[in-house]
Amino acid sequence: MGEMEDLCVTECERCPALVDSRSQIVNGTGPEDADILFVGEGPGAQEDSQGEPFVGRSGSVLDGQLRIVGLDRDTVRITNCVRCRPPENRDPTADELENCRGYLEQEIELLDPDVIVTLGKVPTEHLLDRDVAVTKEAGSVEDVRINGTPRRLLICVHPAATLYDRSQEETFESALERAAELAGVDGSDNTSGQTRLDGF
Ligand code: URA
Repeated sequence: MGEMEDLCVTECERCPALVDSRSQIVNGTGPEDADILFVGEGPGAQEDSQGEPFVGRSGSVLDGQLRIVGLDRDTVRITNCVRCRPPENRDPTADELENCRGYLEQEIELLDPDVIVTLGKVPTEHLLDRDVAVTKEAGSVEDVRINGTPRRLLICVHPAATLYDRSQEETFESALERAAELAGVDGSDNTSGQTRLDGF
């Protein structure tokens, strides 16, 4: 393994293809005691250049939806299954996922979140270790042992899915509402200026 200082990987050369394609290692962001941990697949071009997860188009969708349910990006932790950008945005390989697994497990252990929200197929299947039809199972909560500790995992679609298919927006929003509930975060004092009309 490479080196990990607290929650940050400072150097790692385990995946030759990713060492070539990355411009930097993209670590998780957000408080080290956050109640909610979002796990994406891996950095894209924007993330690779800025060194932060979910800062491109998918990140705008995530931030917007978080605000709608009364959550603030600054209060949650956001990380990825792999910390280096795969070439041409391909999916990380099984070996790459395995190479990075220890860092993710360490982040989960140190954070000890109330709920882990997996964004899309790759992180969901990686952490549940089974095939998952994410659009069908989005919003469902499962208990899963990660590194020996039982964790609560909430399946969610990837934010980018809402860009290709508008009907996924609702699925995404409901899953985030569920995450806020599970973490005991009250979205009712939402001051983002978004008015919540559903339920009226
Ligand atoms: N998609 C992901 O899965 N992770 C990111 O950090 C950005 C886009």
